[in-house]
Amino acid sequence: MSAHPLSAPHSCPQVETARRLADKVLFPTAVATDRGGVIPTAHLQALQDAGLYGIFSTEAVGGSNLSNEDRNLVIEALAGGCLTTTFIWQQHAGPASATALCEGEAHRYAAGLARGDIRGGVAFAHLLRQGAPVLRAEPCGDGWQISGTAPYITGWGDVDIVLIAARWHDSVIWGIVPGIESETMSVHMLELAAVNSSSTAVVTFDQHLITTDDITSVVSFDSWLENYRMGLRANGSLALGVTGRCLSLLGPSELDAEYVCARERLDTASVDELPAARANASDLCMRAATMLVAASGGGAIALSHHAQLLARQAMFLLVQSQTSEIRQHQLDRSM
Ligand SMILES: Cc1cc2nc3c(=O)[nH]c(=O)nc-3n(C[C@H](O)[C@H](O)[C@H](O)COP(=O)(O)OP(=O)(O)OC[C@H]3O[C@@H](n4cnc5c(N)ncnc54)[C@H](O)[C@@H]3O)c2cc1C
Repeated sequence: MSAHPLSAPHSCPQVETARRLADKVLFPTAVATDRGGVIPTAHLQALQDAGLYGIFSTEAVGGSNLSNEDRNLVIEALAGGCLTTTFIWQQHAGPASATALCEGEAHRYAAGLARGDIRGGVAFAHLLRQGAPVLRAEPCGDGWQISGTAPYITGWGDVDIVLIAARWHDSVIWGIVPGIESETMSVHMLELAAVNSSSTAVVTFDQHLITTDDITSVVSFDSWLENYRMGLRANGSLALGVTGRCLSLLGPSELDAEYVCARERLDTASVDELPAARANASDLCMRAATMLVAASGGGAIALSHHAQLLARQAMFLLVQSQTSEIRQHQLDRSM
């Protein structure tokens, strides 16, 4: 059964490919993937073979340079197949675009990332945390020394490199680290109530050296934050994807119209309106998953049932890529 009951055929080949992969490859094994504790390597390979690792890279380095609209539809389609696989794959966007745009030596990773021969993760969400920075950089002779904790690195074991963001005074230092444990990088795997097979790790850095040739950029925190606020649309596609799958399993319901409106609201929101549009999408996702559980009866609670899986995924999407503003809109809606 397709996750896109309300979506017309699309002219972008990558969108159609993502929908086909979601329905034929990812969704049929989504429950098994959730319970397995790791992502089947065949899933990520299928995305690579379809060229979907290249959608975050510019054409100059071999990527397909999709428009934001098409990229969002690809993310939505895949999320409706298997959120966990999609979440691991989506982290690739960070290093793929950072190295493609970098004018320094770290540009050497860009072509491999565009092909998916090199797979990447990213650790930056901690920049938004309240209080003192949890991951810090200090300049040193050869580059930057990193100390502190990256609280979430998804895809650990599946990725070759990770783009990390560390604070130095009012600046953010972006650099590449290897996806392997070492004396200066210790790893603790998280046990999660949802997306547990995303292989998400806490990584602690102890004076880890990133040499200048692995630095992708140094930017002011304020300019990064402004850019980040403008990019909040993309993660809304994860909630739309899970919502679409719930609605497809439910059959026609009053939420169908809300699903169309939620996407339109995300697509047309100004930067200042995006947090409310994101809160709306994650709220709809929760309601669609709740309705699916209720409609499925007691069977929904079996670990083999899609309804409980989608409900746990919807719960995760309440906090995934949450910002202070999104959080406030979510809390206001709950009152
Ligand atoms: C399973 C999992 C995997 C993840 N994988 C990655 C990954 O690979 N890479 C990555 O970069 N990130 C990852 N994240 C982080 C994710 O994208 C979110 O940023 C994160 O879940 C938000 O939670 P937090 O613990 O970072 O911040 P929290 O401390 O929970 O805060 C969330 C937001 O609310 C704000 N906030 C908190 N308390 C207050 C308050 N009292 N008043 C106002 N605002 C407040 C914070 O500033 C922040 O913006 C992952 C998260 C999870 C749960």
